[in-house]
Amino acid sequence: MAEALPAGKGSRSTANTICRYRPWFCIVVAALASATWEDILTQQITHSELEKAVQQSPRKWVYLFSEGNAKMRDLLGGKGAGVAEMTNAGLPVPPGFTITTEACNAYYEAGKRFPQGMWEQTLAALKIVEQQTGKGFGKRDNPLLVSVRSGAKFSMPGMMDTVLNLGINDETVKGLVALTGDERFAYDAYRRFIQMFSKIVLDTDPKDFEQVLDHYKEHAGVKTDAEIPAAELKKLVVEFKQIAERQSGEPFPTDVYQQLHKAIEAVFSSWNNKRAIDYRNFNKIDHKLGTAVNVQSMVFGNMGNDSGTGVAFTRDPGTGEKQLYGEYLLNAQGEDVVAGIRTPSKISRLQEDLPQVYQQFQQIAHRLEQHYRDMQDLEFTVEKGRLYMLQTRSGKRSAQAGIKVLVDMVAEGLITEQEAVKRADTTQVYQLLLPRFDENEKKLAASEGRLLAKGLNASPGAASGKAVFDADRAEEMGKAGIPVVLVRPETSPDDVHGMLVARGILTARGGATSHAAVVARGLGLPCVAGCEGIRVSEAEHLFRVVGSDFVLREGDDISIDGATGEVFAGIIKTVEADYEKETELKKLLGWADQHRRLGVWANADYPRDAKRAVTFGAEGIGLCRTEHMFMEQERLPIVQKMILAKSQEERQEALDQLLPFQRSDFKGIFEAMVNPKTGEGYPVVIRLIDPPLHEFLPSYEELLVDVTRLETSGENAEELQEKRKLLDEVGSMREMNPMLGLRGCRLGLLFPEINIMQTRAILEAALEVAKEGKKIHPKIMIPLVGHVNELKEVRRQLEAVAKEITSEGNAEVAYKFGTMIELPRAALTADQIAPVAEFFSFGTNDLTQTTFGFSRDDAEGKFLLKYVDGLTEPGIEGKVKILPVNPFQTLDRDGVGQLVRMAVEKGRQANPHLELGICGEHGGDPDSVEFFHMVGLDYVSCSPYRVPVARLAAAQAALTTSERDK
Ligand code: PEP
Ligand code: MG
Repeated sequence: MAEALPAGKGSRSTANTICRYRPWFCIVVAALASATWEDILTQQITHSELEKAVQQSPRKWVYLFSEGNAKMRDLLGGKGAGVAEMTNAGLPVPPGFTITTEACNAYYEAGKRFPQGMWEQTLAALKIVEQQTGKGFGKRDNPLLVSVRSGAKFSMPGMMDTVLNLGINDETVKGLVALTGDERFAYDAYRRFIQMFSKIVLDTDPKDFEQVLDHYKEHAGVKTDAEIPAAELKKLVVEFKQIAERQSGEPFPTDVYQQLHKAIEAVFSSWNNKRAIDYRNFNKIDHKLGTAVNVQSMVFGNMGNDSGTGVAFTRDPGTGEKQLYGEYLLNAQGEDVVAGIRTPSKISRLQEDLPQVYQQFQQIAHRLEQHYRDMQDLEFTVEKGRLYMLQTRSGKRSAQAGIKVLVDMVAEGLITEQEAVKRADTTQVYQLLLPRFDENEKKLAASEGRLLAKGLNASPGAASGKAVFDADRAEEMGKAGIPVVLVRPETSPDDVHGMLVARGILTARGGATSHAAVVARGLGLPCVAGCEGIRVSEAEHLFRVVGSDFVLREGDDISIDGATGEVFAGIIKTVEADYEKETELKKLLGWADQHRRLGVWANADYPRDAKRAVTFGAEGIGLCRTEHMFMEQERLPIVQKMILAKSQEERQEALDQLLPFQRSDFKGIFEAMVNPKTGEGYPVVIRLIDPPLHEFLPSYEELLVDVTRLETSGENAEELQEKRKLLDEVGSMREMNPMLGLRGCRLGLLFPEINIMQTRAILEAALEVAKEGKKIHPKIMIPLVGHVNELKEVRRQLEAVAKEITSEGNAEVAYKFGTMIELPRAALTADQIAPVAEFFSFGTNDLTQTTFGFSRDDAEGKFLLKYVDGLTEPGIEGKVKILPVNPFQTLDRDGVGQLVRMAVEKGRQANPHLELGICGEHGGDPDSVEFFHMVGLDYVSCSPYRVPVARLAAAQAALTTSERDK
């Protein structure tokens, strides 16, 4: 194919250029053989031409804004669907069109080539935009400039690429001068275009451009870009082009169609840049969705002080308050606001600067919110006093705002309670209950002079960690498990990989809608933005506090409060969120409870956890792991004595010492689960000892080191003898595969005294609490059963103890007996096991481990996360994903789920009264909760903090599955 060369009108090379970038015209040329280029270029192309181009293509790849609507997000992306809806609602939207996500996918499928007919449809649509605007693309008189923007189905703010002012070259810039009478404006638009196009499309290093720009400002003695005089800008344009050509090794494209072609390609390609992939992985967005490309006629916010540009939310995205929240800059272009270079004004000030525009904007914002029945994130530009809407989308919001907006909208009659429940974000519910800074500690830190500065409270939450000044380092440390706070002058999309692992973000520049703020809110990370009281030095990896000598360096401890904007040196203690004060959340969860079928219980080992779980709405304890009580300092030596006992008597002695501890532990849990007003208690499932015994003993490896050290030093013969003995004993208990070894019910079968002691402790505690008039429901659960005979034998042991206690105390205690289903064999033979049990609780942690054959302890560190992240294979572009998600977090429905389903069915058939629950980590994972709802479990049990999430997820599962069934 011929290269695009600048040449005279009608010349062969021009024809080739046009054929490459305007093949639609070439089709016309073929049809109108006698026509000249001039004829063709002045053809009136109407909608029917677009239709014709579509007919000649395998598919419709391009939609005018007037052809789309809000429901077409899959095809047009969120932005495309949004502008289409606004266009059709009669709002002032600059005309344009959207190239579909299907085209993007087809582009990749075809080996990064535009699919057949896409370019022709683009040109036909562009011609219509020319008509709609009365401007001509590439024409010197009244030139049409366009923006080329990405826009995926799910908003990925700042992750992909955008080119503004496209269509400008040495000729059209003159037209722009003639049209506006503003040379400065026109050349500023031109230099911005070269800068952006070079970075995005030609992949050049932006630093060189910035340096030259700084040099020009210095030379002109001005502070801002907007003050550089026209004559200087003209020179700057020439210099910018030279830089672009030097860096890219090719002439800077002057043909506007070539510019457009390349920009569309660049936007398609940006779907697969590193930051976009990282963002999608983090947010679990499907990599196959592709991005749409929006080509829209430009309007200019930088045409003087009656022009401007801004972004605003219809409600405060941090708190959810119902008031316009946003910012704008007069005499500026879009990227100036989000780039954080100039500090913008609050949107309320627009009332003074441009009162009519403000009023109109308010009305439009209200209309859009009513229309979408959701809080909107709006982008607008004012060109010479005229308001244009550039984008509307559902606004990203903090956890607090997320819940408040839903509850308020129900009160306003905009949505129903059911809709609020369905729409609520489970992650946000989780975040809302996360710890915050302890107010007293904060006051103390302030009194010690550790309050360094205050910035914008851009995204709520508290974060402490090591300060890190670049994203790569943050990623490295974060992945090594070190808590980090990423500190940047301002963030850009290139920082996203560091933001993903950081505990919080601090920037010195930028507003509440800057990149840092928007991304942090989306990720649920605390963020303090625009903290002008610090000066960040990237080169030195530190920041200095303005007006003081204080310097905070990389690796120093730092704390940021995203709710107040405060920045402290050192670590500040955090405290629990006060659930009682979360009135909106409680209201929402109350609505959720009306719709869920699944019970929500909690895993809790201590009365403290049990109490918290009840506060969060737990209706029972689904798993109390008794072994955790063994680990406490004063008990561990007794437990070790019990394990290493040489005779049954010795063991019994140790167990007798443990019994009162366990009894009081259980009593505490039972009491925590009784409603003090009614005396009515929730069920409590207590599981007998489960882990391999060596977990309670000193490490074999450490003992070996000690013995070797003592042997070589010859210092302490007595200690050496003791350690040798212990080493022998610990060595004798070592197993190659302890997770598949002597653990679970096998322990109690080999050492029945342990089971007997635990059962006695449970039942005696239950009797004591019952005697106080409290109604409690103890359940005893046996772990790791693989064969029904194991369960039968344990049941026999337990019943004997229960009988003994009954006769000793003259009172019978009611308890239920059940088992965990956490081995594939147990699931496969659930029909044999069910008649021996009153309940099953799925231990999906072990069930996942044993079904996949993945070690719970090692798999994630060694290979599993790579399976999920994707493997790099020689000769294959991109990464090869083996698993879509980590199966220890989200239940593997196809494999592990099949075993759960089978055990439910077989178990219920064999024992219709069987109660069914799940207590593995999956009990608090929304996707897994949906599955447990669908297979008909009675309850899920999860960690206390996840109880509210599970309540909401259970309701969402019930609502969505009943809708699907309709
Ligand atoms: C399980 O295996 O899912 C379970 C709940 O038990 P644990 O995690 O204690 O092995
Ligand atoms: Mg288990």
